[in-house]
Amino acid sequence: MRRRLTALLVGLWFPFVGWAGDTQINGVRVWPAPDHTRVVFDISSPAEYRLFSLANPDRVVIDIDAARLIKPLDQGASPGDSMLKHIRSATRNGNNLRIVLDVTDKTRPKTFLLPPNQTYGHRLVVDLLPQGAGSAKTAAATPPATTVKTAPANSLREVVIAIDAGHGGDDPGAIGRHGTAEKDVVLAIARELEQLIRAERGMRPVMIRDGDYYSSLRKRTDKARGNKADLMVSIHADAFKDVRVDGASVFILSERGATSEAARMLAAKENAADLLGGVSLEDKDDLLASVLVDLSQVATIEASYTAANEVLRAMRSVVKLHKPQVERAGFVVLKSPDVPSILVETAFISNPSEERRLKDKDYQRKMAQAIHRGVRSYFNKYPPPGTLLASTRQHIIAQGESLAAIAQRYRVSVDQLRLANNLTSDQVRVGQRLLIPSDS
Ligand SMILES: [Zn+2]
Repeated sequence: MRRRLTALLVGLWFPFVGWAGDTQINGVRVWPAPDHTRVVFDISSPAEYRLFSLANPDRVVIDIDAARLIKPLDQGASPGDSMLKHIRSATRNGNNLRIVLDVTDKTRPKTFLLPPNQTYGHRLVVDLLPQGAGSAKTAAATPPATTVKTAPANSLREVVIAIDAGHGGDDPGAIGRHGTAEKDVVLAIARELEQLIRAERGMRPVMIRDGDYYSSLRKRTDKARGNKADLMVSIHADAFKDVRVDGASVFILSERGATSEAARMLAAKENAADLLGGVSLEDKDDLLASVLVDLSQVATIEASYTAANEVLRAMRSVVKLHKPQVERAGFVVLKSPDVPSILVETAFISNPSEERRLKDKDYQRKMAQAIHRGVRSYFNKYPPPGTLLASTRQHIIAQGESLAAIAQRYRVSVDQLRLANNLTSDQVRVGQRLLIPSDS
């Protein structure tokens, strides 16, 4: 008895008010992510419910008044779920429903109702988060280390490519006529790209989403920035009501979107320090800080544009393009002020023949290879200082290029090129890989 009382006292009490009525629970979906688990209940109407946590054993309880299950909820954990162990349910007092989520210890629930969207009706969402996580304030309050690192001369870092497969979990993205979900095909392309980048000397991939779960756009940019990405590539598939529309496109952030984002970031003051590569904004007034962020973002957008052009050019030879030039839009996922970011719409999933192609393993690989070639060519031309790539650049000979022209472009002599590549003549062939010697 005493133990039960303690459990009740330990439990947190969240009352939530929708409106009363007979609510049907039509089903449940569980989306385990590396840092949280999302449990989604399909409900017939916005329900009145209470959610609280109990200890010994740890569980999250959801009481819904005047509710009934369409089918019994009894579900074990998904493989790899570190938060949720089991879901069970019981009817109480005739027509009230109690759902119990057995959870691992130190789990903090967060809950909200979602209105219907294109795919689903009303939903009750419970996010199971690790205790003490998600406190960005704690992270921001810790001042960045200001010690000057005297790295040994040979510790060259790898270029980091953040690969972001759009959507995931309860957010399927666009759906093709034959039921193909954007979230699945873009993850497949992202995984192909990950392998190609991993095999590339001097480059390292970071998967922003590596499973079927949703990650907020803000969390995606945070993860790219947290991994000090040199480039973020977000992968999507487009949709349009006219099924004839087809082709791939590459987007960067429009400056209009960027401006309001700079303002937003400052207002929140989230991670304001370290935003400009070590220039702390905390001691600057907001106006000056906003100018600094804008300058940083203008440079980032310029780099994004250059990278986007390289990717577009590499894609041109492989797939049909929707637009022949880089496009600009206010995508939130492109708004990192300090990480050049591009968004690739790989095809129109709403076009039946492109939907078929998107599902095809060969096409997925071809698309990933094109993005990879574009990314590689961008970093070969503009290797970030201090990276392995900056010290060992490569150039792949294109149609009509001569050794002299390449030497001029990389500001090295023809002799240096010959020496670095053991060339006995000045003849080069298309597709040949040349090592560009460092001029330092
Ligand atoms: Zn999308």
